[in-house]
Amino acid sequence: MEIIRSVGNLADYVAKAKADHRSIGFVPTMGALHDGHISLVERAVRENDLAMVSVFVNPTQFNNPTDLATYPRKEEDDFRMLAEAGVKAVFAPTVDEMYPRGTAREHEYKLGSAAEVMEGKFRPGHFQGVAQVVHRLFELVRPDRAYFGEKDFQQIAVIRNMVESEHVDVEIVPCPIKRAADGLALSSRNALLSEDQRRRAPGIYEALSASVEYSRDHGVKATRDMVVDRINAIPEMEVEYFEIVDGRTLLPVEEWEESDFVVGCITVYNGCVRLIDNIRYR
Ligand code: AMP
Repeated sequence: MEIIRSVGNLADYVAKAKADHRSIGFVPTMGALHDGHISLVERAVRENDLAMVSVFVNPTQFNNPTDLATYPRKEEDDFRMLAEAGVKAVFAPTVDEMYPRGTAREHEYKLGSAAEVMEGKFRPGHFQGVAQVVHRLFELVRPDRAYFGEKDFQQIAVIRNMVESEHVDVEIVPCPIKRAADGLALSSRNALLSEDQRRRAPGIYEALSASVEYSRDHGVKATRDMVVDRINAIPEMEVEYFEIVDGRTLLPVEEWEESDFVVGCITVYNGCVRLIDNIRYR
């Protein structure tokens, strides 16, 4: 596996792959890799001539400096996992290499109403930062397909809007959430949980799963309240938001019948660690 650090070397690598007519499957990540990332990577390996992964903790998508400073980093383990999964090249640049003119945003992306709600509301600027880095990576890697996890459900909708408004020719491939045996959605941030917090963390998915059953004979609001109350009753846990939304527009629904694609998106503070998850109702 090639480890590429510079934009110039990446451009050369991609130019050669294109000249050889090899299809490129791309998985952008922030590293501290786990089986959730690897499930995307394995699919990229299977479905393309060559799989490329980026490992880059993108400062422009963090609105909280402590979150950026404490974000887990373990590059050596990451590279070993990627090589074992059959990845041909990993792009792991420095911040200066990615943003030679500095990290100030020079372009306002058109991300639609999907970027205004939920994460967009609670993390101002987050999706502009995501769009900025993913667009830059797409320009460099020129992938045929790019793989994104449904754990970040809203992110996929926002990326699709960016791809459309910037006219990027790439297929966005959504991949299912990978969970620990106890139901907790895998996340790099899980490594930051204390033993007690980790033990209680599956309570999020338990509440979400129970709410699917509950939703069969309760309305949207009652279902929403049930999830929030149940999670807030767990020590150290506090729901930041739980929205039941149309899976395409990401706008809230008030009745189950309003859409044939309804998803509940949640963010929970477990101590200081911010965890996200989601569940499909219809
Ligand atoms: P991150 O490194 O957190 O930016 O994630 C990189 C990619 O991996 C994103 O597309 C995430 O949605 C995806 N991802 C992270 N955790 C999971 C998971 N538990 N299951 C599936 N995909 C995931």
